[in-house]
Amino acid sequence: MRLRVLRFLLFCFILWAASASLYAQAIQSPAQFLGYNLGQQFTPHAQIVRYVEYLASQAPKRMQVQTYGRTYEGRPLLLATLSAETNMSRLENIRTDNLKRIGLLPGPATSPQPAIVWLSYNVHGNESVSSEAVMQVLFNLVAAPTPDMVKWLQNTVVLIDPCVNPDGRDRYATWHNQVANQLPNASPLAREHQEPWPGGRPNHYLFDLNRDWAWQTQLETQQRITVYNQWMPQVHADFHEMGVEAPYYFSPAAKPYHEAITPWQRQFQQIIGETNRKYFDKNNWLYFTRETFDLFYPSYGDTWPTFNGAIAMTYEQGGGGRAGRAITKADGDTLTLAQRIAHHYAASLATIEAVAERKEQVLQEFQKYYQQARTNPASAYKTYVLKAHGQPGKMQQLTTYLDRQQIKYGYAAKKSTGFGFNYTTGKSESVKIDPNDLVISLYQPKSTLIKVLFDPNTKLEDSLTYDITSWAIPYAYGLPAYSLKGRVGEVAEKLINTTPKASPVAATGSPYAYVAHYNSLSDLQFLAALLIKNIKVRFSEKAFEANGQQYAPGSLIITRTGNERLNNRFDALVKAQADSFGVQLVPTQTGFVSSGVDFGSSSVRSVRKPKIGVLAGEGISSTAFGEVWHFFEQQIHYPVTVIETRDFSRVAWQQLDVLVLPDGRYNDLFDERGLNQLKDWVRAGGKVIALEGAAAHLAGKRDFNLVKRKVSDSIDLKKRSLQSAEIIRRGRAERALGTGTGWHLPGNHG
Ligand SMILES: [Zn+2]
Repeated sequence: MRLRVLRFLLFCFILWAASASLYAQAIQSPAQFLGYNLGQQFTPHAQIVRYVEYLASQAPKRMQVQTYGRTYEGRPLLLATLSAETNMSRLENIRTDNLKRIGLLPGPATSPQPAIVWLSYNVHGNESVSSEAVMQVLFNLVAAPTPDMVKWLQNTVVLIDPCVNPDGRDRYATWHNQVANQLPNASPLAREHQEPWPGGRPNHYLFDLNRDWAWQTQLETQQRITVYNQWMPQVHADFHEMGVEAPYYFSPAAKPYHEAITPWQRQFQQIIGETNRKYFDKNNWLYFTRETFDLFYPSYGDTWPTFNGAIAMTYEQGGGGRAGRAITKADGDTLTLAQRIAHHYAASLATIEAVAERKEQVLQEFQKYYQQARTNPASAYKTYVLKAHGQPGKMQQLTTYLDRQQIKYGYAAKKSTGFGFNYTTGKSESVKIDPNDLVISLYQPKSTLIKVLFDPNTKLEDSLTYDITSWAIPYAYGLPAYSLKGRVGEVAEKLINTTPKASPVAATGSPYAYVAHYNSLSDLQFLAALLIKNIKVRFSEKAFEANGQQYAPGSLIITRTGNERLNNRFDALVKAQADSFGVQLVPTQTGFVSSGVDFGSSSVRSVRKPKIGVLAGEGISSTAFGEVWHFFEQQIHYPVTVIETRDFSRVAWQQLDVLVLPDGRYNDLFDERGLNQLKDWVRAGGKVIALEGAAAHLAGKRDFNLVKRKVSDSIDLKKRSLQSAEIIRRGRAERALGTGTGWHLPGNHG
């Protein structure tokens, strides 16, 4: 009898050991791998990458990891995929079947489908708890799952981006680890709670990546959207932090909701809230819902996925860059990094649970969303028509953008007329459609996204909103556009019967000069490329006519004269640059013009290659500086010298031709002496480009011919509408430049 009991116990032990070893086969926890408990210090990005890759190497049948891109500073961007072994073995099948079910790939889906959940961490680099918490999430799901987790992973494929913004995160983590005391100092006075300029929130070019989902101006976003579109998850969660004093935020989101959000998407906001509530209540953790974080502006990590059919949500932990490893709050309690990790960990698993428990409905509703999008788009407008209007470079930028979003378009095959909204006049009127006009039909999978991005007037159910309230792609790209309530008859897949966008120059010709219009970003990119190659470029101060074409003042003239050193390479070099930017180059055999001034006139001057400086550092708005920096380096590829504000008084001005002053607090920056230096330099020929706060600071100062417009405190209604128009224009201009900075309410971090 005793032997039987012993045998039974032995059997039980073997069973337990076998099941335990199945998962915990000596896979190291974050603490074992890193050598410290999570929460004791901030983990450098390279270590996070090593741990994620380590986990995948230890459990390749349950977890894979791919490098989907690199940041501007060269750090890898990772996507981990986790699921039950039976799903992992047919992962590619699951991925393509998901796209087939929603019409983004042709053909019928064949296999049973788990739901796809995507979790994104640390998009704001200094909201650094996220990438600490993710290591615990990955470890538990892969190496030490509870029976519940095992069940959830049978129903879901979980995609995890452990760090969306590695450059910003490392800026924060490196700084903190450098200045922090050995033991956390919870006093808010301590240096370890005072993050220096520019802070770890944005990426390398100081762009807020959580304002970039829709506009996709940054490398990190562009690469992420590509892989997102390959998966098209049903659920996306984005992990953030807010101010130190706030506890925790999860869905349902605050009003306003964008009108394009479906009843099911709204309903699931509640479900997510219910699931999280269970864990937060059990642990007696404080939280709030339905306040502050709304679902309106389409460029967030919750809204862009929402307009791509997913249920998407933001999680906000109290803390952020100021919180460090421990900080004393106003109520006397101490908030620790370990607590923050525990909360994000719980919310991560609650998200997976909420989806796994309703897998069938989540999938059905997703499919229904796309079915509706393709056959019955929820918009009064059914077609958008855009005209290149002699600006092929702009059109090329727009089609690249549409391709990235998997938005399908075609080109009008013949002349026709329609009736619709004119984005330029703001009126509904008759529209002439010409061959090769770009046509975007809403009868396609991404129709909701198109509607949201192109809508001329977005309906706002509650004017108290968190961020930007107006946008429209046609304004951002500066192209004439119309929205029509009907369809356009014949649409070709490709441009028809056009002269090639390349310049119509015979390879063997050696014209007197080349002429080009100068009115778009592509033209500027073209000019910058020529200047960098030391090709002499002239411009006309007056309008002229050549080869039967009218040219406005500022048009570019590239004469053979002045470029003799290039010999017979001249034509090929100029032509290659024009081609790469889609610039129409017209060759001319004479310097004589039919009207206006000839190319040898004193009104035709050569363009100097300007030496440009831009001010950065304490006192300057980091996003405003980043916008200028990104513009020169990434958009026009022209060198710019970044000068620290602390070095302002020591600048050797004569080495610069142009100084850009981004938005900032210039009262603190310019004393009388500095201002006089600036004036002397301008008198000697220097040029200042003062933006926003910089212009406001110079306004009214002696010798600066700038006047500040007063806005009275009691704005009447008319003025108020003018002011909101100004905000809209500013929003549009910002997006055209690809800044997407947004406006923040104090204390908000989303
Ligand atoms: Zn955030």
